[in-house]
Parts: sequence; structure tokens; C-alpha cells
Amino acid sequence: MVRAIVGANWGDEGKGKLTDVLAEQSDIVIRYQGGANAGHTIINEYGKFALHLLPSGIFHENTVNVIGPGVALDIEALFRELDAVLERGVPEPKLLVSDRAQVLMDFHVLLDTYEEERLADRKFGSTKSGIAPFYSDKAAKMGIQVCQLFDKELLRERLKLSLVRKNILMEHLYHKPLLDADALTEKYYALGQRLAPYVVDTTQYLHQALRENKRILLEGQLGALRDLEHGIYPYTTSSSPLAGYGAVGGGLPPAAIKEVIAVTKAYSSSVGTGYFVSALSGEAAEELRRRGGDAGEYGAKTGRPRDVGWFDAVATRYGCRVQGATACAMTNVDVLGYLDEIKICVAYEIDGRQTRDFPVTPLLSRARPVYVTLPGWKSDVRGVTSYDALPENCRNYLSYIERAIETPLTIISTGPRREEIIFR
Ligand code: GDP
Repeated sequence: MVRAIVGANWGDEGKGKLTDVLAEQSDIVIRYQGGANAGHTIINEYGKFALHLLPSGIFHENTVNVIGPGVALDIEALFRELDAVLERGVPEPKLLVSDRAQVLMDFHVLLDTYEEERLADRKFGSTKSGIAPFYSDKAAKMGIQVCQLFDKELLRERLKLSLVRKNILMEHLYHKPLLDADALTEKYYALGQRLAPYVVDTTQYLHQALRENKRILLEGQLGALRDLEHGIYPYTTSSSPLAGYGAVGGGLPPAAIKEVIAVTKAYSSSVGTGYFVSALSGEAAEELRRRGGDAGEYGAKTGRPRDVGWFDAVATRYGCRVQGATACAMTNVDVLGYLDEIKICVAYEIDGRQTRDFPVTPLLSRARPVYVTLPGWKSDVRGVTSYDALPENCRNYLSYIERAIETPLTIISTGPRREEIIFR
């Protein structure tokens, strides 16, 4: 049985915590897209961790963690993360890396950084982790698969081919030092040797696991609104964080995915450039940002302050729809206990017309939020583990949202810790 845990919004919905909770019930956890460009925060008995590339199952000794073919694999970043986790007393995790995953190279990070510099105030809010140049190379068939790291001459040939165009950009567009194919060949051949013990045909492994009725969890990164096709293009990422892509980037039959849990937050937050209709400003935003998450709303990868605002039911209903969510999990419900009144954005007004349908990006920039206002519950629900123990106003807030997003809210998180959770 395969289930997916994915973001319903702009990312940072608290998927890390929920993945950790669900990983406990899974035999295998798979990362299927993206790379070290986002972070999942997990708090458990070993401490607080920001995972970027490692699947969230690494804290559970019996869980096998798979990096699928769809991932942008920065090998050095992977080993840095692995070393940091081991140093803090986590037992050596079971990790498998797809032989078809492609390698994110140093020059992808350089190209990403130089391009953001060149675009200056027209930039797309990249985390400068090399993701856009990586997926561009992949689509242009200039990428290097993990399996190609083990044959030095093949690797050199692939790098030489790929560097011709890059060096033209380096010299004439960015005015930066040229890239050297031989030095890169030596470096990535050596990294390949270090990676080799983890490398297998993960697709074959997963199909066998399905036959053995293993419980498999697909772990999505970022959120639906960052999807390259369905998100707020061009303020998207360069891969697909949708559950549907889990079949492709993970290496599983689409029909094997039986459950899709979309994660959303009790309020909305977004980091990076892009349009966010229900954003707050001034003191109200400052207070919510300070109280949000377990240490305020600042990007796990970049430390950038996140935009925060009222729950956006238009964006979330759309996010659940494109994810194909069978259920929704809501995090950070405990954060809102200080408010007298809470607003929910239930529609957008665009050029004088109201709509509940999430629009294309050019229209989004003109959208104004339409709110309903509900009474707050004015109490601390942190750590509550039963739905009936929530204050009535809190339950009303959750039911209102459930109807607005047309997806059952089956998991409610009441704090950053693993045990602070309600299953309905
Ligand atoms: P992810 O990328 O979707 O995993 O989101 P992040 O981990 O970047 O952000 C979620 C933040 O919220 C982290 O700081 C979590 O520790 C925190 N968090 C998750 N669930 C809850 C919750 O229910 N309540 C509170 N207060 N914090 C939470």
C-alpha cells in the first residue's frame, strides 16, 4: 500500500513532522522530487533536525529510506546531512539511492546564483541550490545519472559535452571563471565511489516491496502551488511536488497510491517571491510570524522571514484538488489560541467579480481576499490529543475549513512534537 504526504500550499506546511509520525507506520519512505532546496523540520528524541535531502524515515531503525530517480541529488549535501545526523547519535539509517537519479553538480549551484544576480529585482526567489539549472539540464538530456559516475571516461565525455554551452555563459554572460571538465570528472568520480554502497535499482526494489505488501510512504517536498505545471508559475519550483508525480519520480505504479494526505497550516504562510492574497502586514503579521511553528515563521533552508496571513481556503481547495488529496492534515492549530477573531479567506475578488476558483498568476496579482470572520477560542490547545477536547470555537473553525476545502480533515497537529497530534 502506498500513501503520499504532500503540501497543499506553498510549502512549509509542517510536512516534516507529519512525515515523521507516518514514517513510524511505514516500511519504506521515498523522496521523489526536488533536492536540498527545502527543509523539513523534525523534532524527536534525538533533538531538532532540518532535513533537506534525507527522507524523514531515517530516525526509525526499521524503515528503508529511498532517494528516487526524480530527486536532484547533491551528493556532498547528502553526505553533510548524513554525517550531521550520525554525529548526534542517530543510528546509521538504511538508505538506498536510485541508479537513475541525476546528480546536481557544483556548477548548477553557481549557475543558479549567477542567474539570480543577473535577474536582480526580476528574480524568482531561488534558494540558489542549483535546482532550476539541474532540471533544465535534465530536460535537455545534458544531465548525469548516478550510474554514469562509475565509468570515468563516460563521465568525462558527458561533462565535456555539457560544459561547452555552460562555459560560453560563464565567459560572456556572467563573466566568471571557466569550468574544467577534468577536475569535475575526478571530483564526481570520487563522490560516486563514496555513494556506491547505497546505489541500487530502486524501482525494482520498490516493485518487489509492493508484492510483499510493504507499507510505502511518498514524501513530497514544497507544496502544490510550487508545482511547475499547476503552481504560481514562474514563482514555482522546477519539479513537481504533486502526489501524482510520486509514481514517476519514485518509481511506482500510479494505481498503487491509495491515500494522498495533503498538509496545510491553520493559517497561511509562504516564503520566497510570489503572490499570496491573504497575507497580513504590520504588527498583526509580526505577531503571527513570531508565534508560528516552533520557533517563528522563518524558512528552514534560507532563514528568510515568511509572509504570513489568514487561512486561504481558495488556494488550499485548489492545492488539495491538484494533489488529489483523499484527506487533509492541519498543523499549527495551537498557534491561533491568542486571537479574539479569526478570518478565513473564502473567495477572491478579481476586477469586481468574486470567485472561489484559484486563478492563473497574472490574475492572482489583482486578486483581493474575501473573508468570513469566526470567533477565536482564546485558549491554549497545545498538546491536545483528542478532537472532543478541543474548544467548541476551535472545532467550528476546523469544520468551516473542512467544508470550504472540500476535503476531510483527518489529522490535526497541536504542537511541533511527535505526540502532539489528533487522529480523527
Ligand atoms: P515542512 O517543510 O512542511 O516540513 O514545514 P517546516 O518544517 O519548514 O515548517 C513547519 C514548522 O512548524 C516547523 O518549525 C515545525 O516544527 C512546526 N510545526 C509543525 N507542526 C506544528 C504544530 O502543530 N504546531 C506548532 N506550533 N508548530 C508546528
